[in-house]
Amino acid sequence: MTTKADIVKELYPEDLYGYAEKLTDGEIEVLQEVREALETHVRPVIAEYWENADFPFEAFKKVSEVGIMNNPKLYVDREGKRKPSELYTAFLYLELARFDASIATFYTVHGGLCYNTILIGGDDRQIEEFAPKLASFEWQGCFGLTEPDHGSDIAGGLATTARREGDNWILNGEKRWIGGADTADVIPIFARDVEDNRIKCFIVRKGAQGYEANPIPHKGSLRAIRNAHIKLEDVVVPETDRLANINGFGDVAKILVFTRADVSHIATGVTAGAFISALKYVKERDQFGRKLGGFQLVQEKLARMQANVVANIGYSVRLAELQETERPLMLNSSLAKMHNSLTMRETVAMAREVCGGNGITLESEVMRFFTDAEAIYTYEGTHEVNALIVGRELTGLGAFI
Ligand SMILES: Cc1cc2nc3c(=O)[nH]c(=O)nc-3n(C[C@H](O)[C@H](O)[C@H](O)COP(=O)(O)OP(=O)(O)OC[C@H]3O[C@@H](n4cnc5c(N)ncnc54)[C@H](O)[C@@H]3O)c2cc1C
Repeated sequence: MTTKADIVKELYPEDLYGYAEKLTDGEIEVLQEVREALETHVRPVIAEYWENADFPFEAFKKVSEVGIMNNPKLYVDREGKRKPSELYTAFLYLELARFDASIATFYTVHGGLCYNTILIGGDDRQIEEFAPKLASFEWQGCFGLTEPDHGSDIAGGLATTARREGDNWILNGEKRWIGGADTADVIPIFARDVEDNRIKCFIVRKGAQGYEANPIPHKGSLRAIRNAHIKLEDVVVPETDRLANINGFGDVAKILVFTRADVSHIATGVTAGAFISALKYVKERDQFGRKLGGFQLVQEKLARMQANVVANIGYSVRLAELQETERPLMLNSSLAKMHNSLTMRETVAMAREVCGGNGITLESEVMRFFTDAEAIYTYEGTHEVNALIVGRELTGLGAFI
């Protein structure tokens, strides 16, 4: 008889300690369907889209049709919840990112950043309007926080303004790096209320007058997702589309606690993907009359990569369990994002190295993981910013400024 342990071992052979056994049967079934959709529809086109700096919308649609956010199998014993379990979410990110980091990033912008913004920032009416359509992918979402002149210091520096005029707000400013913003239907924009100086969130809808989003050209990392530079010129947003529960950066941080955890899972997936690709390669290629995988120096790198994968999955899984509790902590998310990104960066470099020259072409998968890792290392809090958050908790001393 095939056991759950057998099934997850086949699905995630890199999960040496078998953490995936904690998933429910329904969650595993959904992840298996995601795998099939990725392999059937996205695999044949991903390298081409990466090279052409475009997102494979049609192919990804087949993945979303699995119901990755709203499949009833994900809600067994979760009555009244609007999100699948954090553990499933961690493995969904692992699944997507071990395949391709741009695909995982597109999903984190939509299902992580935008969706959590609505759930955490919206009132009941707003959640009812936006959440189901985002969960079914009828609407595409994004997340507009970072600005051209304010990245790491966005909390204090955010310069986009919101001015109230009767029942409307008028937005002015610029946003940078916003994933999917040129095609999104739901565009949460964080802006500073000129009246009380607080950061608030406004839902700009597709086609709004004065909203312009142009893809940033010449990216060398995450080429298969379009990141936009947004300009907002007197964009009118009705008061009914201001998210009711975001009234300061403290509320934005409540969203980032979750989405930073999501990105730590993406780092886990990229680590796994690079390792799997490199392992396959060294088992197939001969040099000096035998397989590359048969050399001691190569095996030492394989062992280190495998250890990094197990450590990252361990961080992701325990973090997911902690996220499921009443009070998720930024410390935990920052620690995992920092750790998993560091080991990811080390792993993709080793994976690239053991593939030699073929490791720098799209012929081998590791090239995508190698270059894409750089963006993941930087977004959702750079290494330094997450280290400073951990350092502040350890010492009680803020060292950002
Ligand atoms: C591919 C990609 C996708 C993204 N998607 C989105 C998105 O969808 N929505 C969104 O809102 N944002 C997005 N971002 C923005 C991302 O969150 C920022 O890039 C990130 O916060 C860093 O800001 P910055 O790039 O301006 O770097 P900077 O803040 O200019 O930092 C540059 C360097 O200085 C270091 N540094 C800064 N301050 C300190 C300090 N006090 N002490 C020590 N070192 C410091 C940083 O760690 C970094 O190494 C995305 C970015 C990328 C690259």
